[in-house]
Amino acid sequence: MSSPEVAISIVRRWLALALERIAAQEEELGRLDAAAGDGDHGATMVRGLRAAVAAADKAEGNAGQLLVEAGAAFADASGGASGALVGALLSTTGRTLGDGPYDTANVVRALQAGLTMVKRLGKAQPGDKTLIDALQPFVDALAAQAADQPLAAAWAAALPAARQGAAATAAMVARRGRSAKLGERSLGHPDPGAVSLTLLLQAADAVLSTG
Ligand code: ADP
Ligand code: MG
Repeated sequence: MSSPEVAISIVRRWLALALERIAAQEEELGRLDAAAGDGDHGATMVRGLRAAVAAADKAEGNAGQLLVEAGAAFADASGGASGALVGALLSTTGRTLGDGPYDTANVVRALQAGLTMVKRLGKAQPGDKTLIDALQPFVDALAAQAADQPLAAAWAAALPAARQGAAATAAMVARRGRSAKLGERSLGHPDPGAVSLTLLLQAADAVLSTG
């Protein structure tokens, strides 16, 4: 991902594809959330992503600024715990990325800043059965890739860590968020936020790999 124009196009296409894929899983994400939460996670993500797509299409500036605007719109529109957290993840990542260069080393730094912000806001740690259980392994795996590797290749190599992290949440008892109250009931089901976060990362992979 070299030129600033390509980066802008990738951000816009990523959000559009993420919306398409999450909308296709809206009911399933709601079912997962209903296991111990309130069943709204699919709807929350779709609402947030619709607003994020619109904001990124309208926004001017570099790819980092597009992500900042998309994150603010996501948080505003979606509500819910995940709305604030995913919105902050997008915005902090975008702010840290700024005007690039959009290479693997800078994307790692930006995602690390985003992850730190999500942890600070939500006070969850790995093992609490949240989206962090997909995001943290992914960011760690991306950071472990050679920094001079093209972003698309590094991203694809790190993706299995997110999938495995999300799958592993099925064996966890929720300790944060709404579902912590009914923690035991969440056992056996993956965390909806970890599943949707993985869908976001997979959509980014699809867009990055087509350039
Ligand atoms: P709400 O819990 O307000 O109904 P959603 O259903 O949209 O919001 O999102 C639930 C998801 O949000 C959970 O599956 C979990 O991944 C994530 N989540 C909730 N609380 C936290 C937290 N404190 N830190 C990190 N992620 C969290
Ligand atoms: Mg919910």
